[in-house]
Order: sequence, then structure tokens, then C-alpha cells
Amino acid sequence: MFDMIGNVMNNLVTKPATRKYPMETRPSFSKTRGHIEIDIDKCIFCGMCSRKCPSNALTVNRNEKSWEIDPFKCIICNACVEVCPKKCIMGCEMYNTSAPVKGKRKFVQQPQPASEPVREPEKEEKKIIA
Ligand code: SF4
Ligand code: SF4
Repeated sequence: MFDMIGNVMNNLVTKPATRKYPMETRPSFSKTRGHIEIDIDKCIFCGMCSRKCPSNALTVNRNEKSWEIDPFKCIICNACVEVCPKKCIMGCEMYNTSAPVKGKRKFVQQPQPASEPVREPEKEEKKIIA
């Protein structure tokens, strides 16, 4: 009886042992292998990541400039992260959220805006500059 009263009093003055998920989430442990992301703008579509992937989760299409991952095949071994020469694949700590249907994630590189050609100053402009 006294033990129980002690427990009740203790629980009244201490923090709860559990979190109020999903309002309160626990930060990931460092080096957690959650999921794979890519910075598609840096990719050169060499295909090394897809050749190294042990579960055939990656598809690289050089002509289409696309990179595709099947998160349901990926075993998060990080082989693609290590082999990428441009270091554009990242292992992220957050886990993927659950999905109602199995689907791939496709990234397509958009054409970069052409930079303005450097124009030589005209004769008149050269005079003004001088
Ligand atoms: S290894 Fe890196 S640069 Fe090469 S295709 Fe894969 S993501 Fe792109
Ligand atoms: S982490 Fe491993 S399994 Fe997942 S895509 Fe990269 S190489 Fe393939």
C-alpha cells in the first residue's frame, strides 16, 4: 500500500517516461541510415551508383538526365554514397515515411540557364572607360 502511494507521488512530480508522439519526436541517433537523397544538379549521370547498387534499386538514364531510386528495394548500404564521384548522393538520418503504395522516386535534372556571353566593349565605350 505504502509502495503504491510512493509510486503515485513519484509519478506526480516526475516527467512522463514516454513521449507524446507524433507531437514530440525523438532526434535521430548520429549516423542513422534513414534514406537516400540526391542533389540532382550535381549529377553527371555516370551510372557508377547504379552499377554498384547490390539490390538494383537505382536507375540512371543519361539521355533523359534522370536518376531514379526504388526505396522499397534499397537496403541503405550506402555503397552509392561512397562510390559517387561528384558526392551528390547523401545518406540522410530521417527514415522514409510509410507509403500506401509501392513507388519509385524519380529526379530529373533541369537545363541550367545559359550564362550571358561576355561582350567586348565598343570603341566609344572604350573611350569613356579610358
Ligand atoms: S554516381 Fe553520382 S554522379 Fe554518377 S550517376 Fe550516380 S549520382 Fe550521378
Ligand atoms: S544505399 Fe545501397 S541499396 Fe540503397 S540505392 Fe544505394 S547502393 Fe543501392
